[in-house]
Amino acid sequence: MPVEYTACVASVIKSGKSKDDAQRICAISFNKKFGISPQAAHKIGDWKGWKKSHGFEESLPQTVTCKSCNKDFDYSTTVEICMGTVKCPNCGMIINQEGTVVIEQDLPKNKVP
Ligand SMILES: [Zn+2]
Repeated sequence: MPVEYTACVASVIKSGKSKDDAQRICAISFNKKFGISPQAAHKIGDWKGWKKSHGFEESLPQTVTCKSCNKDFDYSTTVEICMGTVKCPNCGMIINQEGTVVIEQDLPKNKVP
């Protein structure tokens, strides 16, 4: 599978989601980003070459507005969690380059602060 997908699945599982959820979430965001499914990408022999020829070079937007907290932040200085998604430095939601919330952080419910 493409590295963007596998890295995404790994980090989403790390964030506490089940493997099924992770695969579903990452397949959706992969599809959104590249316009094809990870399975289809897997069948492309030269994935890096395909990305280049389809204009998917590493060009990230600079400023993104988080749709959860409506705060702007610099996407390029925020560490990517997985392809096309970062954790909002303000509210901690996992959002994509458009600022749309991809994963809502599950806060521990039975922990007393
Ligand atoms: Zn936010």
